[in-house]
Amino acid sequence: MALAKIAVLGAGTMGNGIAQVFAQHGHPVVLRDLDRAILERARTQIDKSLAKLAEKGKIPPGEKDAALARITLATEAGALAECDLVVEAVVESLGVKTAVLQEADRIARPAAILASNTSSISITKLGAATRRPDKVIGMHFMNPVPIMALVEVIRGQATSDETTRTVMDLARSLGKTPVEVNDFPGFVANRVLMPMINEAIFAVYEGVARPEAVDEVMKLGMNHPMGPLTLADFIGLDVCLAILQVLHEGLGDPKYRPCPLLKKMVDAGWLGRKTGRGFYTYP
Ligand code: NAD
Repeated sequence: MALAKIAVLGAGTMGNGIAQVFAQHGHPVVLRDLDRAILERARTQIDKSLAKLAEKGKIPPGEKDAALARITLATEAGALAECDLVVEAVVESLGVKTAVLQEADRIARPAAILASNTSSISITKLGAATRRPDKVIGMHFMNPVPIMALVEVIRGQATSDETTRTVMDLARSLGKTPVEVNDFPGFVANRVLMPMINEAIFAVYEGVARPEAVDEVMKLGMNHPMGPLTLADFIGLDVCLAILQVLHEGLGDPKYRPCPLLKKMVDAGWLGRKTGRGFYTYP
């Protein structure tokens, strides 16, 4: 997939980063979301992120504008017709992801690969909802996408060797390190990370310590670059809750029960950095 054309569905935190990284590596990218205002905000975000990389000398001076020029914004599904790879990064909901992948399945050329950036939803289930389950795969980028090296590549039950090989090679061509894992709830990254974040929230909920103290303990004591509650705010508390619910339901083990405080904060619309308030405030 040398300079294949990529479609990225969802222009939120992850979609922006994924579109940027593909564009930086020479791929024409169609970035699709529900309305124009979201897409314009995404373009501004990508512009800022590329400017930062250029400032730090991480990309050559002319590359910022060249990369931006490779990204086309679209609200219409027809824009997917010419793409070789579709990466969906819409909200973490089985219903929404199934709908966007079924639409992509109808529109994209038969050889196109459909990848999901889901944090936890079954790739097997998503694949089975399409007519090409052998070409459906998890391509789980980490946040912030332009910085983080890992891509967790998740094989669904029907994902073919060829699809897996193509996606592993493609991730390497983006300067990332792909790691292949099998399809079980939360895969590896979130199966290990989310119980830690949930436990940190329980520590606050039960009055063991304030968020600042929990984060300080994990930073200084465990050498984590960021405390778990700062990380939860960064990921988005709604995303954390959705992943914990998938782990809880999918593995049927009460140890994954989301903390009531997390649910309450999501109900309040305190979703972390993206809404200006989570465990911390972001003016
Ligand atoms: P987000 O809420 O920032 O962005 C989601 C975007 O999807 C929004 O812009 C929304 O308008 C758009 N959308 C919703 N329905 C759509 C549709 N039908 N068609 C097109 N666009 C649609 O969410 P995010 O944090 O970017 O997460 C996206 C995905 O990436 C989720 O599956 C999440 O689990 C996963 N993920 C998130 C992180 C993280 O740190 N935030 C890390 C790894 C993976």
